[in-house]
Amino acid sequence: MLRTGDEHLRGLRDGRAVYIGSERVADVTAHPAFREAARSVARLYDLKRDPAYREALSYEEEGERYAMHFLLPRSRDDLLRRMRAHKLIAAASYGLLGRSPDHVASFVAGMALQPEQLGAGGACGRRFADNLRAYYEHARRNDLYIAYAVIPPPGARDPNFSGRLYERSPTLRVTEEDNAGVTICGMKLLATASVFADEVWIGNVQPVAPDRKKEAITCAVPINAPGLSLWSRKPFAPSVQHEFDNPLSFRFDESDCVVIFDKVKVPWERVFCHDDAPLSREIYIRTPSHSFGNHQANVRFWAKLELLLGLASKIVRAGNLDRVPAVRETLGRLAAMEAMLAGMIYGQCMDHEDLGNGYVAFNRRYMYGALSWCTENYAAICESIRELMGAGVFLMPADASFLRDPGLRETFDAYWATTSASAVERLKLFRLAWDLLGSEFGARHAQYEKFYAGPSFVVRDHSYRECPWERFHGIVDGLMRSYGEPAEPPSTSA
Ligand SMILES: Cc1cc2nc3c(=O)[nH]c(=O)nc-3n(C[C@H](O)[C@H](O)[C@H](O)COP(=O)(O)OP(=O)(O)OC[C@H]3O[C@@H](n4cnc5c(N)ncnc54)[C@H](O)[C@@H]3O)c2cc1C
Repeated sequence: MLRTGDEHLRGLRDGRAVYIGSERVADVTAHPAFREAARSVARLYDLKRDPAYREALSYEEEGERYAMHFLLPRSRDDLLRRMRAHKLIAAASYGLLGRSPDHVASFVAGMALQPEQLGAGGACGRRFADNLRAYYEHARRNDLYIAYAVIPPPGARDPNFSGRLYERSPTLRVTEEDNAGVTICGMKLLATASVFADEVWIGNVQPVAPDRKKEAITCAVPINAPGLSLWSRKPFAPSVQHEFDNPLSFRFDESDCVVIFDKVKVPWERVFCHDDAPLSREIYIRTPSHSFGNHQANVRFWAKLELLLGLASKIVRAGNLDRVPAVRETLGRLAAMEAMLAGMIYGQCMDHEDLGNGYVAFNRRYMYGALSWCTENYAAICESIRELMGAGVFLMPADASFLRDPGLRETFDAYWATTSASAVERLKLFRLAWDLLGSEFGARHAQYEKFYAGPSFVVRDHSYRECPWERFHGIVDGLMRSYGEPAEPPSTSA
């Protein structure tokens, strides 16, 4: 069932415990920190029901319609349908909502392609594969928005938290279990968009030490569960005076929250891994879960790159610089980068994996290649565009309020225009570009692009793990076999 934007917003008024500093937010859909971003999310739900996008953003199965990001692909065409749906969703936020509703849902869908990898539940005898299948069904039927927190807090690394002192470790773990389920306590990072989500997925995308079995819990919890609280970082929207000055901070601050669990009860039906430290990470890798979630991230980055490219070119034109060969070369390099990423994304669908059970998956090596490429290139891309901007943004008046003063406006119109753009067009363009590249919102995005899939050495390790080294060794071995040891001393030429 596809929900409407209004239904989604109503669902967020569920008593969830969200804190901004010491303030407990009464209603995330009304608070200035979250209101506009909540509406941006609601628009994504409405987009799916819009007759112009319905076919592209949803699919039908046994008379029901479901969001395309829940489609379990059986063919290359299905993969392309998923990819195009991600692109439409990402384009609606210009790639600025990283954890849009199709992100974690894709992790769940990817896992649902091979749920048997979750095992039978080991010592506790629970059917985790069945739980995952049922959760996937629950998520797609209710068109759920799921966020995730799958990283332990830095405090958990302290080697002193062992033996008796383990109790003091801040990281999330199971503290009790009974016939109904588990009780979890502790902290997890960093649930982007959780204030707008229905549920949060808890797990471990990074390895857990084998003896820390109680941290190996993987489960899904409603955001309004008793004992769960979200601690928001500083939101950017409240300091925006006019949307005109910071249009992106105003609309697309998706928020990031630490999640605290204080004796939160989770029924067994929502537990997907328990007491098995290696498996709690491997479920993302043995199944195409990580690959599906990060394919979405590749596509989302692509939408953002399109915005960046458009900004770069318009900035150059607004400054009458588009005929300068060196400037055109910079634009050409950026254009080539966008085309490269588009090719890498299409390649993931065209040269796909056959899972051998009737399902197919994105080519994970190409996906990890693109992920590395995005992580490593975002800062350089932004740097290029900042160079093209020169001092442009600092020539602009402090804020848009002067536009309502006819005298000031006349002066502005006369002096700030160029032959290719009016003064107000330039003001609007530079404000937008600075919001993405120089504001606090922009700085958060720079950090997001570096870390959303883990630090870069972790991202590169995925490529290392998936690489068919034997094949490449074989090429070297074959070449070396094609010539022998010298039979004669080297010939000397006079
Ligand atoms: C804006 C933003 C949004 C995020 N959203 C989410 C989300 O929705 N859900 C979620 O679960 N997580 C999210 N994350 C968290 C993200 O997964 C982590 O930030 C990331 O895994 C890095 O972990 P950390 O922050 O603890 O950094 P650390 O692990 O503390 O690393 C800090 C620095 O030390 C370096 N370092 C650490 N260990 C080593 C080592 N062994 N060798 C070499 N260098 C090392 C790292 O490379 C890095 O440069 C988000 C992060 C950001 C910034």
